[in-house]
Amino acid sequence: MDQKVIVPVEAVLTKCAALPVGYVPTPSAPYRQHRKSAQLTQEPATPRLKEAAAFPPGSRVLIWKQDPSVSEMGTRKSYLPGTILEGPRDARIASGKPGIAPVSPNTFGDFIVSPNTDQFDAVHTFAIVRQTLTMYQRALASKAIAAPLPWQWNSASDTAPLQVFPHGLPNVMNAFYSRSDRALKFGDFVPSGASERMYTCRSLDIVSHETGHAVLDGLKPKWILSNNPPQTGGLHESFGDLTAIFLTLSQLDQVEAVIAQTKADLHDKTFLADMAEQFGLALGRPNGLRNADNDLKLSEVGNEVHALSQVFTGAIYDILADIFTFDRGPGLRDDAVVLHRAAEYLRGLLLRALIASPDSGATYAHVANQMLKIVAADQRPVEYGNFIRNRFTLREVVLAAVAAGENRDAAPPLAANVSDQEGAAQDRRACCGTMNHADYAGLEDVLESERQGLAQWCRDYGCGAGYGADDGGNGNWRGGAPAEQPGQAGAGQGLGQGRQ
Ligand SMILES: [Zn+2]
Repeated sequence: MDQKVIVPVEAVLTKCAALPVGYVPTPSAPYRQHRKSAQLTQEPATPRLKEAAAFPPGSRVLIWKQDPSVSEMGTRKSYLPGTILEGPRDARIASGKPGIAPVSPNTFGDFIVSPNTDQFDAVHTFAIVRQTLTMYQRALASKAIAAPLPWQWNSASDTAPLQVFPHGLPNVMNAFYSRSDRALKFGDFVPSGASERMYTCRSLDIVSHETGHAVLDGLKPKWILSNNPPQTGGLHESFGDLTAIFLTLSQLDQVEAVIAQTKADLHDKTFLADMAEQFGLALGRPNGLRNADNDLKLSEVGNEVHALSQVFTGAIYDILADIFTFDRGPGLRDDAVVLHRAAEYLRGLLLRALIASPDSGATYAHVANQMLKIVAADQRPVEYGNFIRNRFTLREVVLAAVAAGENRDAAPPLAANVSDQEGAAQDRRACCGTMNHADYAGLEDVLESERQGLAQWCRDYGCGAGYGADDGGNGNWRGGAPAEQPGQAGAGQGLGQGRQ
Protein backbone atom coordinates (compact mmCIF):
# COMPACT_ATOMS: atom_id res chain seq x y z
CA MET A 1 0.00 0.00 0.00
CA ASP A 2 1.43 3.33 -1.01
CA GLN A 3 1.11 5.84 1.84
CA LYS A 4 3.20 8.62 0.27
CA VAL A 5 1.76 12.07 0.70
CA ILE A 6 2.29 14.41 -2.25
CA VAL A 7 2.61 18.04 -1.24
CA PRO A 8 1.75 20.48 -4.05
CA VAL A 9 4.71 22.64 -5.00
CA GLU A 10 2.54 25.76 -4.90
CA ALA A 11 1.74 25.10 -1.25
CA VAL A 12 5.42 24.89 -0.37
CA LEU A 13 6.28 28.01 -2.31
CA THR A 14 3.41 29.99 -0.82
CA LYS A 15 4.39 28.99 2.69
CA CYS A 16 8.08 29.77 2.11
CA ALA A 17 7.28 33.19 0.72
CA ALA A 18 5.61 34.12 3.99
CA LEU A 19 8.40 32.82 6.23
CA PRO A 20 10.35 35.32 8.33
CA VAL A 21 13.98 36.14 7.58
CA GLY A 22 16.33 33.70 9.26
CA TYR A 23 13.70 30.96 9.44
CA VAL A 24 15.19 27.50 9.43
CA PRO A 25 12.85 24.63 8.68
CA THR A 26 12.83 21.81 11.20
CA PRO A 27 10.78 18.65 10.87
CA SER A 28 7.19 19.07 12.03
CA ALA A 29 5.80 16.67 14.64
CA PRO A 30 3.54 14.87 12.11
CA TYR A 31 6.46 14.47 9.70
CA ARG A 32 8.69 13.04 12.41
CA GLN A 33 5.93 10.60 13.36
CA HIS A 34 5.57 9.65 9.70
CA ARG A 35 9.33 9.05 9.35
CA LYS A 36 9.38 7.00 12.54
CA SER A 37 6.62 4.69 11.45
CA ALA A 38 8.06 4.46 7.94
CA GLN A 39 11.40 3.36 9.38
CA LEU A 40 9.73 0.75 11.57
CA THR A 41 7.46 -0.66 8.88
CA GLN A 42 8.19 0.16 5.26
CA GLU A 43 11.85 1.24 5.44
CA PRO A 44 13.52 -0.70 8.23
CA ALA A 45 16.96 0.76 8.78
CA THR A 46 19.95 -1.35 7.94
CA PRO A 47 21.88 -2.28 11.08
CA ARG A 48 24.59 0.28 11.84
CA LEU A 49 28.08 -1.03 11.45
CA LYS A 50 30.65 -0.47 14.15
CA GLU A 51 32.75 1.60 11.76
CA ALA A 52 29.86 3.97 11.16
CA ALA A 53 29.84 4.81 14.86
CA ALA A 54 33.56 5.72 14.77
CA PHE A 55 32.62 9.37 14.24
CA PRO A 56 30.24 11.16 16.60
CA PRO A 57 27.11 12.49 14.88
CA GLY A 58 28.13 16.15 15.19
CA SER A 59 25.86 19.18 15.26
CA ARG A 60 24.21 21.59 12.88
CA VAL A 61 24.57 25.26 13.65
CA LEU A 62 23.13 28.39 12.12
CA ILE A 63 25.73 31.08 11.37
CA TRP A 64 26.26 34.32 9.52
CA LYS A 65 28.26 33.35 6.45
CA GLN A 66 30.03 36.75 6.36
CA ASP A 67 28.30 39.30 8.57
CA PRO A 68 24.82 40.89 8.78
CA SER A 69 25.77 43.58 6.23
CA VAL A 70 26.66 41.04 3.50
CA SER A 71 23.05 40.21 2.73
CA GLU A 72 23.93 38.14 -0.34
CA MET A 73 25.38 35.47 1.98
CA GLY A 74 23.05 35.88 4.97
CA THR A 75 22.72 33.01 7.41
CA ARG A 76 23.01 29.35 6.63
CA LYS A 77 23.19 26.04 8.42
CA SER A 78 26.63 24.47 8.78
CA TYR A 79 27.59 21.04 9.98
CA LEU A 80 30.23 20.68 12.69
CA PRO A 81 31.56 17.14 13.02
CA GLY A 82 32.58 16.12 16.54
CA THR A 83 31.01 16.13 19.96
CA ILE A 84 29.54 19.46 21.01
CA LEU A 85 27.79 19.87 24.34
CA GLU A 86 25.59 22.49 25.95
CA GLY A 87 27.25 25.88 25.89
CA PRO A 88 28.21 25.27 23.14
CA ARG A 89 31.52 23.77 24.12
CA ASP A 90 33.88 20.98 23.16
CA ALA A 91 37.27 19.80 24.36
CA ARG A 92 39.15 22.82 22.96
CA ILE A 93 36.67 25.71 22.90
CA ALA A 94 34.18 26.84 25.54
CA SER A 95 31.58 29.56 25.68
CA GLY A 96 33.04 31.76 28.40
CA LYS A 97 31.57 32.20 31.87
CA PRO A 98 30.09 34.40 33.10
CA GLY A 99 28.63 35.33 29.78
CA ILE A 100 25.64 34.38 27.69
CA ALA A 101 23.44 31.72 29.31
CA PRO A 102 24.45 28.26 28.02
CA VAL A 103 22.62 27.20 24.85
CA SER A 104 21.24 23.67 24.88
CA PRO A 105 21.17 21.49 21.76
CA ASN A 106 17.77 20.46 20.40
CA THR A 107 16.64 16.86 20.18
CA PHE A 108 18.78 16.35 17.08
CA GLY A 109 21.87 17.60 18.87
CA ASP A 110 21.75 20.80 16.81
CA PHE A 111 22.16 24.44 17.82
CA ILE A 112 19.64 26.23 15.60
CA VAL A 113 18.49 29.51 17.12
CA SER A 114 17.13 32.76 15.70
CA PRO A 115 19.59 35.42 14.51
CA ASN A 116 19.98 38.68 16.43
CA THR A 117 19.71 36.95 19.80
CA ASP A 118 22.30 36.32 22.51
CA GLN A 119 21.98 32.57 21.97
CA PHE A 120 22.62 32.92 18.24
CA ASP A 121 25.72 34.99 18.94
CA ALA A 122 27.03 32.31 21.32
CA VAL A 123 26.49 29.56 18.75
CA HIS A 124 27.80 31.58 15.79
CA THR A 125 30.97 32.67 17.58
CA PHE A 126 31.71 29.17 18.87
CA ALA A 127 31.10 27.73 15.39
CA ILE A 128 33.50 30.12 13.63
CA VAL A 129 36.24 29.50 16.20
CA ARG A 130 35.66 25.75 15.84
CA GLN A 131 35.74 25.89 12.04
CA THR A 132 38.95 27.92 12.12
CA LEU A 133 40.72 25.51 14.46
CA THR A 134 39.48 22.51 12.46
CA MET A 135 40.70 24.09 9.23
CA TYR A 136 44.27 24.40 10.53
CA GLN A 137 44.16 21.03 12.27
CA ARG A 138 43.33 19.50 8.89
CA ALA A 139 46.19 21.39 7.25
CA LEU A 140 48.66 19.64 9.55
CA ALA A 141 46.80 16.34 9.82
CA SER A 142 48.40 13.04 9.22
CA LYS A 143 45.91 10.85 7.34
CA ALA A 144 42.63 11.10 9.30
CA ILE A 145 44.28 12.14 12.56
CA ALA A 146 43.66 15.82 13.28
CA ALA A 147 46.72 17.74 14.44
CA PRO A 148 46.39 18.78 18.10
CA LEU A 149 47.38 22.44 17.54
CA PRO A 150 47.57 23.30 21.26
CA TRP A 151 46.73 26.72 22.67
CA GLN A 152 49.68 28.65 24.03
CA TRP A 153 49.07 27.59 27.67
CA ASN A 154 48.37 23.89 26.99
CA SER A 155 50.68 21.27 28.47
CA ALA A 156 50.50 17.69 29.70
CA SER A 157 48.91 18.98 32.89
CA ASP A 158 46.90 21.86 31.44
CA THR A 159 44.43 21.16 28.67
CA ALA A 160 42.24 24.19 29.38
CA PRO A 161 40.14 25.31 26.40
CA LEU A 162 40.06 28.71 24.75
CA GLN A 163 37.13 30.64 26.22
CA VAL A 164 34.94 32.67 23.90
CA PHE A 165 33.05 35.75 25.07
CA PRO A 166 30.80 37.00 22.21
CA HIS A 167 29.57 39.91 24.33
CA GLY A 168 32.77 40.26 26.34
CA LEU A 169 33.38 43.98 25.73
CA PRO A 170 30.09 45.92 26.01
CA ASN A 171 30.20 49.37 24.39
CA VAL A 172 33.72 48.79 23.14
CA MET A 173 34.72 49.07 19.47
CA ASN A 174 37.23 46.26 19.72
CA ALA A 175 37.89 42.54 19.81
CA PHE A 176 40.95 40.63 20.97
CA TYR A 177 42.69 37.41 21.91
CA SER A 178 44.17 37.49 25.40
CA ARG A 179 46.68 34.86 26.38
CA SER A 180 46.49 35.70 30.09
CA ASP A 181 42.68 35.44 30.06
CA ARG A 182 42.88 32.39 27.78
CA ALA A 183 40.06 33.99 25.89
CA LEU A 184 38.68 35.70 22.83
CA LYS A 185 36.58 38.75 23.69
CA PHE A 186 34.33 40.61 21.27
CA GLY A 187 32.96 44.12 21.64
CA ASP A 188 29.64 45.64 20.66
CA PHE A 189 28.80 49.30 20.16
CA VAL A 190 26.47 51.74 18.47
CA PRO A 191 28.36 53.35 15.56
CA SER A 192 28.30 57.11 15.47
CA GLY A 193 25.16 58.36 13.69
CA ALA A 194 23.56 54.89 13.73
CA SER A 195 20.70 53.55 15.80
CA GLU A 196 21.49 49.84 15.57
CA ARG A 197 24.12 48.21 17.78
CA MET A 198 26.97 46.48 15.96
CA TYR A 199 28.30 43.20 17.33
CA THR A 200 31.83 42.29 16.27
CA CYS A 201 31.12 38.62 17.14
CA ARG A 202 28.64 38.45 14.25
CA SER A 203 31.44 38.84 11.69
CA LEU A 204 33.06 35.67 10.35
CA ASP A 205 36.09 37.79 9.40
CA ILE A 206 36.59 39.28 12.87
CA VAL A 207 36.04 36.03 14.78
CA SER A 208 38.32 34.01 12.51
CA HIS A 209 40.94 36.81 12.52
CA GLU A 210 41.15 36.77 16.32
CA THR A 211 41.16 32.96 16.35
CA GLY A 212 44.07 33.13 13.90
CA HIS A 213 46.04 35.10 16.49
CA ALA A 214 45.29 32.40 19.08
CA VAL A 215 46.32 29.57 16.72
CA LEU A 216 49.59 31.27 15.75
CA ASP A 217 50.35 32.07 19.41
CA GLY A 218 50.14 28.35 20.14
CA LEU A 219 52.65 27.64 17.36
CA LYS A 220 55.04 30.59 17.77
CA PRO A 221 54.61 32.06 21.27
CA LYS A 222 57.36 34.67 20.90
CA TRP A 223 56.03 36.25 17.71
CA ILE A 224 53.19 38.17 19.35
CA LEU A 225 55.46 40.08 21.73
CA SER A 226 55.95 43.71 20.75
CA ASN A 227 59.73 43.56 21.22
CA ASN A 228 60.01 41.67 17.91
CA PRO A 229 60.97 43.55 14.73
CA PRO A 230 58.01 45.17 12.89
CA GLN A 231 57.80 42.46 10.20
CA THR A 232 57.20 39.75 12.83
CA GLY A 233 54.24 41.78 14.09
CA GLY A 234 53.10 42.16 10.50
CA LEU A 235 53.11 38.38 10.09
CA HIS A 236 50.83 37.98 13.12
CA GLU A 237 48.35 40.61 11.97
CA SER A 238 48.40 39.32 8.41
CA PHE A 239 47.82 35.75 9.55
CA GLY A 240 44.56 36.95 11.15
CA ASP A 241 43.30 38.43 7.87
CA LEU A 242 44.49 35.45 5.84
CA THR A 243 42.72 33.13 8.26
CA ALA A 244 39.44 34.89 7.44
CA ILE A 245 40.12 34.48 3.71
CA PHE A 246 41.08 30.83 4.03
CA LEU A 247 38.08 30.05 6.25
CA THR A 248 35.76 31.59 3.67
CA LEU A 249 37.37 29.53 0.92
CA SER A 250 37.11 26.35 2.98
CA GLN A 251 33.31 26.58 2.70
CA LEU A 252 32.00 25.36 -0.62
CA ASP A 253 28.96 27.62 -0.78
CA GLN A 254 31.11 30.68 -0.19
CA VAL A 255 33.62 29.62 -2.85
CA GLU A 256 30.81 29.28 -5.36
CA ALA A 257 29.49 32.73 -4.40
CA VAL A 258 32.96 34.26 -4.90
CA ILE A 259 33.23 32.64 -8.34
CA ALA A 260 29.82 33.94 -9.36
CA GLN A 261 30.45 37.41 -7.90
CA THR A 262 33.83 37.84 -9.65
CA LYS A 263 33.32 35.71 -12.78
CA ALA A 264 36.37 33.80 -11.56
CA ASP A 265 38.59 36.91 -11.37
CA LEU A 266 39.76 37.24 -7.77
CA HIS A 267 41.00 40.78 -8.47
CA ASP A 268 37.44 41.93 -9.11
CA LYS A 269 35.63 43.42 -6.12
CA THR A 270 34.53 40.66 -3.80
CA PHE A 271 33.54 40.10 -0.19
CA LEU A 272 36.44 37.65 -0.08
CA ALA A 273 39.08 40.40 -0.15
CA ASP A 274 37.06 42.87 1.94
CA MET A 275 37.69 42.30 5.64
CA ALA A 276 34.98 42.88 8.28
CA GLU A 277 32.51 44.65 5.99
CA GLN A 278 30.02 45.75 8.65
CA PHE A 279 32.74 47.15 10.90
CA GLY A 280 34.25 48.92 7.89
CA LEU A 281 30.88 50.47 6.99
CA ALA A 282 30.57 51.71 10.58
CA LEU A 283 33.83 53.59 9.94
CA GLY A 284 32.66 54.80 6.52
CA ARG A 285 34.85 52.42 4.50
CA PRO A 286 33.16 50.71 1.52
CA ASN A 287 35.87 48.03 1.19
CA GLY A 288 35.69 46.75 4.75
CA LEU A 289 38.16 47.39 7.52
CA ARG A 290 40.99 46.24 5.24
CA ASN A 291 41.31 45.05 1.67
CA ALA A 292 43.51 42.04 0.94
CA ASP A 293 43.62 42.82 -2.79
CA ASN A 294 46.08 45.71 -2.47
CA ASP A 295 49.36 46.70 -4.17
CA LEU A 296 51.36 47.95 -1.19
CA LYS A 297 55.14 47.48 -1.15
CA LEU A 298 57.45 47.27 1.85
CA SER A 299 59.16 50.59 1.09
CA GLU A 300 55.77 52.33 1.38
CA VAL A 301 54.76 51.23 4.87
CA GLY A 302 57.61 51.82 7.37
CA ASN A 303 57.25 50.34 10.85
CA GLU A 304 53.48 50.56 11.06
CA VAL A 305 52.49 46.96 11.69
CA HIS A 306 48.95 47.20 10.33
CA ALA A 307 50.15 48.61 6.99
CA LEU A 308 53.05 46.15 6.97
CA SER A 309 50.63 43.29 7.43
CA GLN A 310 48.75 44.32 4.31
CA VAL A 311 51.89 43.90 2.21
CA PHE A 312 52.15 40.25 3.27
CA THR A 313 48.39 39.66 2.98
CA GLY A 314 48.38 41.22 -0.49
CA ALA A 315 51.26 39.02 -1.64
CA ILE A 316 49.53 35.83 -0.48
CA TYR A 317 46.25 36.98 -2.03
CA ASP A 318 48.01 37.54 -5.35
CA ILE A 319 49.68 34.12 -5.13
CA LEU A 320 46.27 32.56 -4.50
CA ALA A 321 44.84 34.33 -7.57
CA ASP A 322 47.86 33.25 -9.66
CA ILE A 323 47.59 29.59 -8.64
CA PHE A 324 43.83 29.60 -9.23
CA THR A 325 44.20 31.16 -12.68
CA PHE A 326 46.98 28.69 -13.56
CA ASP A 327 44.97 25.65 -12.40
CA ARG A 328 41.70 26.73 -14.00
CA GLY A 329 40.13 24.59 -16.65
CA PRO A 330 36.45 25.38 -17.03
CA GLY A 331 36.18 22.72 -19.71
CA LEU A 332 37.38 20.10 -17.24
CA ARG A 333 36.04 21.01 -13.83
CA ASP A 334 34.06 23.62 -11.98
CA ASP A 335 35.94 26.79 -11.05
CA ALA A 336 34.68 26.54 -7.47
CA VAL A 337 36.33 23.16 -7.05
CA VAL A 338 39.63 24.53 -8.39
CA LEU A 339 39.55 27.59 -6.11
CA HIS A 340 38.63 25.48 -3.08
CA ARG A 341 41.61 23.19 -3.73
CA ALA A 342 44.01 26.04 -4.48
CA ALA A 343 43.13 27.75 -1.19
CA GLU A 344 43.39 24.48 0.71
CA TYR A 345 46.92 23.89 -0.58
CA LEU A 346 48.05 27.47 -0.06
CA ARG A 347 46.83 27.67 3.55
CA GLY A 348 48.67 24.46 4.42
CA LEU A 349 51.76 25.72 2.62
CA LEU A 350 51.66 29.02 4.50
CA LEU A 351 51.10 27.34 7.87
CA ARG A 352 54.01 24.97 7.34
CA ALA A 353 56.23 27.84 6.19
CA LEU A 354 55.38 29.87 9.30
CA ILE A 355 56.16 26.90 11.53
CA ALA A 356 59.50 26.38 9.75
CA SER A 357 60.49 30.05 10.21
CA PRO A 358 62.60 31.28 13.18
CA ASP A 359 61.01 31.17 16.65
CA SER A 360 61.50 34.91 17.12
CA GLY A 361 62.22 37.86 14.90
CA ALA A 362 60.86 36.14 11.79
CA THR A 363 60.78 38.26 8.62
CA TYR A 364 58.73 38.11 5.44
CA ALA A 365 61.81 36.85 3.59
CA HIS A 366 62.11 33.92 6.04
CA VAL A 367 58.54 32.86 5.31
CA ALA A 368 58.83 33.44 1.54
CA ASN A 369 61.93 31.26 1.37
CA GLN A 370 60.29 28.52 3.45
CA MET A 371 57.31 28.58 1.09
CA LEU A 372 59.64 28.15 -1.89
CA LYS A 373 61.40 25.27 -0.18
CA ILE A 374 58.19 23.44 0.76
CA VAL A 375 56.47 23.94 -2.60
CA ALA A 376 59.50 22.38 -4.28
CA ALA A 377 59.57 19.48 -1.81
CA ASP A 378 55.84 18.94 -2.47
CA GLN A 379 56.73 18.63 -6.18
CA ARG A 380 54.06 21.12 -7.16
CA PRO A 381 54.26 22.68 -10.64
CA VAL A 382 57.31 24.89 -11.09
CA GLU A 383 54.95 27.80 -11.80
CA TYR A 384 53.76 27.76 -8.17
CA GLY A 385 57.30 28.61 -7.07
CA ASN A 386 57.50 31.30 -9.74
CA PHE A 387 54.30 32.92 -8.46
CA ILE A 388 55.65 32.98 -4.91
CA ARG A 389 59.02 34.39 -5.96
CA ASN A 390 57.55 36.97 -8.33
CA ARG A 391 54.92 38.27 -5.93
CA PHE A 392 57.32 38.61 -3.02
CA THR A 393 59.78 40.29 -5.37
CA LEU A 394 57.16 42.82 -6.50
CA ARG A 395 56.33 43.55 -2.85
CA GLU A 396 60.05 44.21 -2.22
CA VAL A 397 60.29 41.31 0.23
CA VAL A 398 63.04 39.46 -1.66
CA LEU A 399 65.48 40.12 -4.46
CA ALA A 400 64.93 37.70 -7.32
CA ALA A 401 68.04 36.46 -9.05
CA VAL A 402 66.21 35.68 -12.30
CA ALA A 403 63.67 37.46 -14.47
CA ALA A 404 59.97 37.08 -13.75
CA GLY A 405 59.33 34.83 -16.75
CA GLU A 406 62.00 32.29 -15.86
CA ASN A 407 61.62 29.31 -13.60
CA ARG A 408 62.61 29.58 -9.96
CA ASP A 409 66.14 29.48 -8.70
CA ALA A 410 67.48 26.04 -8.09
CA ALA A 411 68.84 27.01 -4.71
CA PRO A 412 66.93 29.40 -2.51
CA PRO A 413 67.13 31.26 -0.17
CA LEU A 414 66.55 34.53 -1.93
CA ALA A 415 68.08 37.56 -0.27
CA ALA A 416 65.80 39.92 1.64
CA ASN A 417 65.13 43.24 -0.06
CA VAL A 418 63.56 45.96 2.14
CA SER A 419 64.21 45.02 5.79
CA ASP A 420 63.38 46.42 9.19
CA GLN A 421 65.96 48.88 10.41
CA GLU A 422 68.26 47.61 13.14
CA GLY A 423 66.45 48.05 16.46
CA ALA A 424 63.25 49.38 14.81
CA ALA A 425 60.29 49.33 17.18
CA GLN A 426 56.82 48.15 16.18
CA ASP A 427 54.09 50.75 15.71
CA ARG A 428 50.88 48.85 16.52
CA ARG A 429 48.48 51.78 16.82
CA ALA A 430 46.34 50.84 13.78
CA CYS A 431 46.28 47.11 14.55
CA CYS A 432 43.45 45.07 16.00
CA GLY A 433 42.75 44.73 19.73
CA THR A 434 45.00 41.70 20.08
CA MET A 435 48.12 43.48 18.88
CA ASN A 436 47.37 46.41 21.18
CA HIS A 437 46.64 44.22 24.20
CA ALA A 438 48.76 44.82 27.30
CA ASP A 439 49.57 41.09 27.43
CA TYR A 440 52.09 41.37 24.65
CA ALA A 441 53.78 44.71 25.31
CA GLY A 442 54.97 43.99 28.83
CA LEU A 443 52.69 46.78 30.12
CA GLU A 444 51.75 44.77 33.23
CA ASP A 445 55.47 44.70 34.02
CA VAL A 446 55.61 48.49 33.70
CA LEU A 447 52.71 48.85 36.16
CA GLU A 448 54.23 46.29 38.51
CA SER A 449 57.51 48.18 38.54
CA GLU A 450 55.59 51.35 39.46
CA ARG A 451 53.81 49.47 42.24
CA GLN A 452 57.14 48.17 43.50
CA GLY A 453 58.47 51.74 43.48
CA LEU A 454 55.50 52.91 45.53
CA ALA A 455 55.94 50.06 47.99
CA GLN A 456 59.61 50.89 48.37
CA TRP A 457 58.82 54.57 48.94
CA CYS A 458 56.29 53.62 51.63
CA ARG A 459 58.84 51.40 53.28
CA ASP A 460 61.39 54.22 53.23
CA TYR A 461 59.22 57.15 54.30
CA GLY A 462 56.09 55.64 55.87
CA CYS A 463 52.71 56.08 54.17
CA GLY A 464 49.42 57.06 55.78
CA ALA A 465 50.26 60.49 57.19
CA GLY A 466 48.96 62.30 54.09
CA TYR A 467 50.07 65.52 52.46
CA GLY A 468 50.26 68.76 54.39
CA ALA A 469 47.39 71.28 53.97
CA ASP A 470 49.35 74.16 55.44
CA ASP A 471 52.09 74.54 52.87
CA GLY A 472 50.22 76.55 50.24
CA GLY A 473 49.18 73.57 48.14
CA ASN A 474 52.68 72.45 47.26
CA GLY A 475 51.84 68.84 48.01
CA ASN A 476 54.49 68.43 50.65
CA TRP A 477 54.59 65.20 52.54
CA ARG A 478 54.04 65.04 56.29
CA GLY A 479 55.80 61.74 56.71
CA GLY A 480 59.09 63.35 57.60
CA ALA A 481 62.44 61.70 57.24
CA PRO A 482 62.77 58.08 56.13
CA ALA A 483 62.00 55.71 58.98
CA GLU A 484 65.18 53.68 58.60
CA GLN A 485 67.30 55.85 56.34
CA PRO A 486 67.56 59.22 58.00
CA GLY A 487 68.96 61.99 55.89
CA GLN A 488 68.05 60.45 52.53
CA ALA A 489 64.93 62.63 52.18
CA GLY A 490 63.29 64.83 54.72
CA ALA A 491 60.04 66.68 55.04
CA GLY A 492 58.93 68.17 51.73
CA GLN A 493 59.92 65.18 49.56
CA GLY A 494 57.30 64.75 46.78
CA LEU A 495 55.77 61.40 45.77
CA GLY A 496 57.16 61.58 42.27
CA GLN A 497 60.65 62.28 43.50
CA GLY A 498 60.54 59.24 45.76
CA ARG A 499 59.97 56.85 42.90
CA GLN A 500 62.84 55.03 41.27
ZN1 LIG B 1 44.71 41.25 14.61
